[in-house]
Amino acid sequence: MHVLVTPAEMQAWSVQQHRAGRRVGFVPTMGALHDGHLALVACAREHADVVVVSIFVNPLQFDVRADFDLYPRPIDDDLAQCAAAGVDAVYAPTAAAMYPPGFQSSVEPGALGEHWEGAHRPGHFRGVTTVVAKLFGAVTPDVAVFGQKDAQQLAIVRQMATDLDIGVNIVALPTVREPDGLALSSRNRRLTPADRTAARCIHRGLTAALAAFDAGERSPGQLHHLVEQCIVSEPAARLEYVGVVNGRNFAPLHDPIALDDAPLVVVAAWFGEVRLIDNMPLG
Ligand code: AMP
Repeated sequence: MHVLVTPAEMQAWSVQQHRAGRRVGFVPTMGALHDGHLALVACAREHADVVVVSIFVNPLQFDVRADFDLYPRPIDDDLAQCAAAGVDAVYAPTAAAMYPPGFQSSVEPGALGEHWEGAHRPGHFRGVTTVVAKLFGAVTPDVAVFGQKDAQQLAIVRQMATDLDIGVNIVALPTVREPDGLALSSRNRRLTPADRTAARCIHRGLTAALAAFDAGERSPGQLHHLVEQCIVSEPAARLEYVGVVNGRNFAPLHDPIALDDAPLVVVAAWFGEVRLIDNMPLG
């Protein structure tokens, strides 16, 4: 497995692969890898001849300094997991290599980034689009795999790839969950045991909304209320937002929800100092 640490090294490796007629699959991550990431790697392998995983905790997309500082960085374990998963190259640049003195350009997300994560984490999506554009520039992938766990990010990256004519095929994978429903996340390892148990309330709320929707409930307000109740009735949880949204444009849905609204429930909640997000497509 090759470990590449500068954009130039990464580009040179990808040029070699393309010259040899190989399709390059790409999984961008911030490391602290878990089975959700590994599912993306397996998917990339199906769509390409060689797979690149990037590991970069991107300072531009953190709106809270402590979250960036405390983000787990178990690089040796990550490299071992990548090797065991048959990854061909890991791209693990330093922040200095990504953002050298004089760096000043960014990619501005549009209306898709206005609500939810965009509204609650100022600058977050500009950081995401900028780093993903840079990673695409270095890796030059044929296909890149993203998780629906970060549904709004996925929609924004797809839009960016279309708008900026980046010739990459974006593939999405459903959220991988723990047996009790908690979405796998690198931040889960920062939960105390009590908060880990409390965090089940997110999935309880989302599945309550899904069951109500399946039973015919079409009021966004009612679905919102169901999710909210599950989370606020958990004393260890601090709800940040619940949204019942159109999964294509992330605008809030109006009553009654229509069949072609691609309804999606999005949630952010805090457990101690750890902020978790999740979502559930309805229908
Ligand atoms: P991260 O390392 O958290 O920035 O995530 C890197 C990629 O993994 C993103 O495309 C995420 O959407 C995806 N991802 C994170 N958690 C999960 C999960 N539980 N299931 C599927 N994909 C995930």
